[in-house]
Amino acid sequence: NISENRPIIRQLDDSAINRIAAGEVVERPASAVKELVENAIDAGARRITVEYADGGKTMIRVTDDGCGIAPDDLSLALSRHATSKIDGSDLLNIHTFGFRGEALPSLGAVGRLSITSRASGYDGAEITVDGGRMGEVRPAALNSGTIVTLRDLFFATPARLKFLRTDRAEAQAIGDVIKRLAMAEPFVRFVLRDVSGDGKGRDVFRAEAEQGDLFEALHGRLAQVLGREFAENALPIDAMREGLHLTGFAALPTYSRGSAVAQYLFVNGRPVRDKLLTGALRGAYFDFLSRDRHPAAALFVECPPTLVDVNVHPAKSEVRFRDPGLARGLIVSALRHALAEAGHRASTTVAQ
Ligand code: ADP
Ligand code: MG
Repeated sequence: NISENRPIIRQLDDSAINRIAAGEVVERPASAVKELVENAIDAGARRITVEYADGGKTMIRVTDDGCGIAPDDLSLALSRHATSKIDGSDLLNIHTFGFRGEALPSLGAVGRLSITSRASGYDGAEITVDGGRMGEVRPAALNSGTIVTLRDLFFATPARLKFLRTDRAEAQAIGDVIKRLAMAEPFVRFVLRDVSGDGKGRDVFRAEAEQGDLFEALHGRLAQVLGREFAENALPIDAMREGLHLTGFAALPTYSRGSAVAQYLFVNGRPVRDKLLTGALRGAYFDFLSRDRHPAAALFVECPPTLVDVNVHPAKSEVRFRDPGLARGLIVSALRHALAEAGHRASTTVAQ
């Protein structure tokens, strides 16, 4: 009898939906750190402190001095597809890191999440969600800003837990996320602290807020993140083509590396990973570097939101240019020009 074996279609409950979504948004502790720090930046924070224990597997805490969340909004912030950042009418015009309203409910579904926050004009309040079970909003003492603590990530999804790498590898990935965001936001102070073991804490990374105009601030921040040597060997880049604006710094060929580790691309303020960059850099340095050497650069593309789609991937770490050839061509020509000028300057200095 066919009708007895007929599959039944069911609507999944929120907690199942959130655990499924978490699979896409939160791959590892570093993805949780990325979501929480982006929220802090979106909240206008000027100081962000990130603490973690055991590679972020047992504890991640992000403290910010941003706008905070009013007590009545705390449970909403933990609901799926609830966001203060867009109203849904214009998906092309996005100026914040977040807009999907998925990170907090996802993290709360796969770990133990607690948010303590105080918005100006309100008392402090706190809410917890534990493997998808949301608690009550309770009063909490806090001067301002937000503290989000995530414990036991993936305790509710043991299959995912098994895929985590060593504490050391996960900590490294967290450091990488913080460095990328620190380069994207030079006016924000970042502290990254490992509080494993006795909990006393060890600063892994620290970048004070930069001063000056954006270009100066960026140069200073790159010195803090990539090192003095990069900053001293970096050529400023500033070029424009058909609505794409390229800025940033590219290092002299003499500062090249044995692997492509020091190549960073930001599109409309967002750190992205894109093969386009590796290819464009190879093209730009072709005449200046042997094949086993890799150039170092941090490049920022600004363009009207119609020329790029950031909504390609739930973690938003990939973008799609409407005209990838244009972006690539701009990078190659701007860098070649800067390298040729630097070469010319060097040869005239020697001649004098
Ligand atoms: P999204 O960032 O896409 O809006 P999230 O789930 O990450 O979605 O966050 C939901 C909402 O919670 C945000 O839109 C914001 O209003 C609020 N929020 C989250 N983190 C913070 C924070 N650190 N400071 C202030 N508000 C926050
Ligand atoms: Mg967010």
